[in-house]
Amino acid sequence: MTTAKVVTRFAPSPTGYLHIGGARTALYCWLYARKTGGEFRLRVEDTDRERSTSEATQAILDGMEWLGLQHDGEIVYQSRNFADHVAAAQSLLDSGHAYRCYCDADQLDQLRNEAREAGHAFRSPWRDGGKAEPAGEAFTIRFKVPEGSTTIADHVQGEITWDNKNFDDLVLLRADGSPTYMLAVVVDDHNMDITHVIRGDDHLINAGRQSQIYNALGWAVPEWTHLPLIHGSDGKKLSKRHGAQAVTDFRDMGYSAEGLRNYLLKLGWSVDDQEVYSDAEATKAFTLDGINKSPARLDFDKMDHINSEHFKTAKDSVLLAELRPFLWAELDAGKIARLETAMVSLKARSKNYKDMANKAAYLLLDRPLEITGKAAKPLRRDDAKEHLSALLPRFEAVTNWTGTALHSVLANYAEEKDIGFGKFGQPLRAALTAGNPSPDLSDVLEYLGKDEVIGRLQDALAASYSVD
Ligand code: GLU
Repeated sequence: MTTAKVVTRFAPSPTGYLHIGGARTALYCWLYARKTGGEFRLRVEDTDRERSTSEATQAILDGMEWLGLQHDGEIVYQSRNFADHVAAAQSLLDSGHAYRCYCDADQLDQLRNEAREAGHAFRSPWRDGGKAEPAGEAFTIRFKVPEGSTTIADHVQGEITWDNKNFDDLVLLRADGSPTYMLAVVVDDHNMDITHVIRGDDHLINAGRQSQIYNALGWAVPEWTHLPLIHGSDGKKLSKRHGAQAVTDFRDMGYSAEGLRNYLLKLGWSVDDQEVYSDAEATKAFTLDGINKSPARLDFDKMDHINSEHFKTAKDSVLLAELRPFLWAELDAGKIARLETAMVSLKARSKNYKDMANKAAYLLLDRPLEITGKAAKPLRRDDAKEHLSALLPRFEAVTNWTGTALHSVLANYAEEKDIGFGKFGQPLRAALTAGNPSPDLSDVLEYLGKDEVIGRLQDALAASYSVD
């Protein structure tokens, strides 16, 4: 027996940016296709002409590209499949699974109210035929919901059954001849050979409706996977109030695409306690049945943690390139060299690129450093300059500029003078970093490099830090 190749799809409506929930859906579709050696398709659902914009399409494509979710094949634009949608509606009409409905808006309102009071969904008086159809009048084509019940098997939600009397006869083609989402999505998924529909659980009930349409058309129903929504950190439905929503917001907050992929993987899927996944591990481990049933909560501490773990294993050159937009300093050869040397420490300790930029700031200051206010306090001590001028020739004498050698310089100085590190460490740190966040002093010295250390110390010795 041969099993059909898995084909998944992400089908965003281009009415805004790529939302974090959509990105997670796309990621799961992408992972499942990669895991099974299948295909991941992208369909832009642009049938709502008023709400769809080319800017939104572009924003979605940009978001997908940044996140590294490469789709297979050409992008399908739903609006170009109009003729196929109309043909499917016609075939449902021909087979008696659909009918022309001539009710106007007022009649519909009234019939809907009556149906509600009677405890079932709306049924058009035109559904059973037998009435002469008025020539030249506007009509919609409605699906004739079958008797009985509809059951779907969902990889997350399990088996779900609906009583068909609760489904109204939905419109397939509007009075202007345009197809509705419910029809278009079925026809396109069928024509694209989609085997697995993975999407947000706001579409769960649509799966019931859509399986009726598949059955009426005699087409195989795809496998369903409906993902629970993403909630804000307060447990409430994600909304503008929570701030970050777009994938690009997360990029601008300094998360790497790899880190965000891992975070989104874990935001709604787990099989054990493992948190950190490379793409290869994620592809291997991902299963539809591991998707959680309850809504996920955004958790920036966890995102920071996962992202920081990815920094540790990332290539320095990649980190450096991605860090650049977060730096406010203009880079020259000296600053780039300092960043390269310090990357070993930066990548081990940063949560995201913003954090990394903050931790790298001391490396990128222009000489002479502006050291003012609280940052200058250690330099105002009586013995501050005495220590700096005693240390300067010791640094000049170091030929092998390594953390260990520099640590020895500091340790020897403390021992010879019989003083604690703090006595000279604080003015030294102030002179070298101007109060910016910085690691251990021997690391600061090592990463700044000999010339820069000597230059910054000379500047500090020449400056006055008195308060005026
Ligand atoms: N276009 C729909 C949306 O953006 C998704 C349709 C689907 O996945 O079936 O909500």
